[in-house]
Amino acid sequence: MPAVTVPTVTVPTLTARAVVADGAGGLAVETVLVEPPGRGEVLVEVRASGVCHTDLDGLRRWCTRPTVLGHEGAGVVAAVGEGVQHVAPGDHVLLTWAIACGRCVPCSEGAPTLCEVLGGERGHAHPGSTRRPDGTPLDRWFNLGTMATATVVRAEAVVPIPADVPFPSACLLGCAVMTGFGSVVNAARVRAGSTVAVLGCGGVGLNVVQAARLAGARRVVAIDVDPARAEAARRFGATDVLRPERGDTSLRGLRADLERIGGGRLLDYAFECTGVPALAVAPLACIRNGGTAVQVSGTEERVTVDMTLFEWDKTYLNPLYGQCRPSVDFPVLVDLYRRGQLLLDELVSRTYPLEAAAEAFADAAAGTTSKGVLLP
Ligand SMILES: [Zn+2]
Ligand SMILES: [Zn+2]
Repeated sequence: MPAVTVPTVTVPTLTARAVVADGAGGLAVETVLVEPPGRGEVLVEVRASGVCHTDLDGLRRWCTRPTVLGHEGAGVVAAVGEGVQHVAPGDHVLLTWAIACGRCVPCSEGAPTLCEVLGGERGHAHPGSTRRPDGTPLDRWFNLGTMATATVVRAEAVVPIPADVPFPSACLLGCAVMTGFGSVVNAARVRAGSTVAVLGCGGVGLNVVQAARLAGARRVVAIDVDPARAEAARRFGATDVLRPERGDTSLRGLRADLERIGGGRLLDYAFECTGVPALAVAPLACIRNGGTAVQVSGTEERVTVDMTLFEWDKTYLNPLYGQCRPSVDFPVLVDLYRRGQLLLDELVSRTYPLEAAAEAFADAAAGTTSKGVLLP
């Protein structure tokens, strides 16, 4: 296809509303100023931003300076900076937080989430193009800051999507869906006919469930201490539902049930999606010799491990962002959604206006919503 030259448009500094973490655990919805996009940047009018567990972690622990929260967003391109050719004003887009240089060794080997050039520019914050009216620069979470009516992001973070995908559903592709689906399909490479356990049926866990179904697993066991959440997983493809005793972090109490479901043996795969550090190694207790345990939560705490859990020949993976390759994976996810095979609309348990961000975070922290979405 010949390169298309998109005229750049000069836009003035905008006034926007944004959810700002104060750097000390609190948040407020503030009026902010957003600079026009520079070279290689895109101004996006955000229409939906999911509330992800990582936003909660950011609010509570990691954002030590004032930061616009949100890293799971979708919206409309309002303007593009010089040199941006793959999107134009009016395009519907989702935002991906794992931008990559495309040239370093991991990028060249097809592992852009491990990019050694731009990887360090993710999570933690760089002064961006958003500031307070008094001039204070604001960091943007994952260099996106999607919990705002507008944000300027690097062109590499912008992925065009068809206009018929509703924004609240589209935004989830950018983190929860990609993380869950990619952990199953890209990282663990779940085989047709296999047996799978999924620990935790929140926003990411439900996507692990539906990806395991799409991969052809014959049994998908949803495990959650909340029976309603586990039952809800049936709609996404769970064939069995188990409820562990609270406090049974080893999950040894589920062993007999898992062996029954597995036809006399433990399961082939188990995915931990609970966000509970003490459960980081629990998937090892669910799998047979030679099975694969996947820790999807991104646990970073110290955990004491009983090494017999690894016996024998078990594989333990902790994939980053489902090993996302934006140009490969997002078109697949959009196609599966449009063909009715990937449930997205059903993932959204509640939407909130941007001004109700505090309530959305409180609900996410309490676990009363599997997936809340802010509508800036
Ligand atoms: Zn996330
Ligand atoms: Zn790279």
